[in-house]
Amino acid sequence: MKDGFGREINYLRLSLTDRCNLRCVYCMPMQGLTFVPGAELLTAEELEKVVCAAVDVGFNKVRLTGGEPTLRQDVVDIVRRLARIEGVDQLVMTTNGYRLPYIAQDLAAAGLKRVNIHVDSLNKDGLAKIMRLGSFDKAWAGIEAAEKAGLTPIKLNAVITRDYNDSAAVELARLTLEKSWQIRFIELMPFAGPTEIQLENYVSSDEVKSWIEAELGPLFPINEGKLDGEARVYRLAGSLGTIGFISPVSNPYCDDCNRMRLTADGRLRMCLLTEGELDFRQTLRSGGNHRDLVALFERAIQAKPVGHSLRSGLFAENRTMSQIGG
Ligand code: SAM
Ligand code: SF4
Repeated sequence: MKDGFGREINYLRLSLTDRCNLRCVYCMPMQGLTFVPGAELLTAEELEKVVCAAVDVGFNKVRLTGGEPTLRQDVVDIVRRLARIEGVDQLVMTTNGYRLPYIAQDLAAAGLKRVNIHVDSLNKDGLAKIMRLGSFDKAWAGIEAAEKAGLTPIKLNAVITRDYNDSAAVELARLTLEKSWQIRFIELMPFAGPTEIQLENYVSSDEVKSWIEAELGPLFPINEGKLDGEARVYRLAGSLGTIGFISPVSNPYCDDCNRMRLTADGRLRMCLLTEGELDFRQTLRSGGNHRDLVALFERAIQAKPVGHSLRSGLFAENRTMSQIGG
């Protein structure tokens, strides 16, 4: 289904929980957090109903995210239920990977196709500094478990944050010389919530690219520099893998946006960086049926804003990234 600006909306991101086992500096504070009570999270059955309605309005790609989606005890059941819905062509997950050594095989058997794993540094101390409570060994074990379970092609996500993990950009890019993975650099976005990150910690994709080229040589655009999903993708000479830049701040891709996000507490958010939401949980829990959910999706698609206003200094203050799911 097309929105009011002619964009085909077909990609739904579901935040399964706002809880996390890590506290990345730009995402969650160490203290003072409150979480959605368990009873207010959508159940596996409710998520299934939402996705059944979504496919009826044309969604065909679903990503599970969070918080940390693998913290849901019923994550394998959720995958199994969503994977069998006709019309869900791609079911994928974004995770920090820590629990993958325990559940990657089960997730794959339940129908998950691939994972994006978040790792901000390849250096033990560096990783602990930016992904507080993080451990490089656990992240690496998660990546290996995902590969072994066939949750491929592997994509690694990193947010380069000045004074925290600047040097990780080149380390991560170098990995593509020997691994067939895609390393994706996501620009830091401003969100509400008491994180210790300030505007000065933002690093643009162009700056990250210049650091990589200075050390490792020129980056050659793939797909003529056009967007592949939300990333502009490049490759180093002779590399097995690729490098993607996701630049919502310096080079917004709102004109090509095809997605909506369901928050952990069941609100459908029309734009990551704009505050508007529609309450699916209330519809589900007040006796709403499939047709009501379809109608709510249709309303949401018509109400999707043309884009965000980060360039004018405006950002959404009603949610943190961990509640929305990135
Ligand atoms: N816990 C999982 C993970 O870390 O991949 C899934 C949820 S996390 C919110 C999804 C993605 O959002 C991660 O790649 C993370 O780096 C990114 N992220 C979190 N806060 C961000 C921010 N303020 N700006 C840009 N990306 C952010
Ligand atoms: Fe957790 Fe992901 Fe947020 Fe890091 S970015 S604190 S891993 S939800």
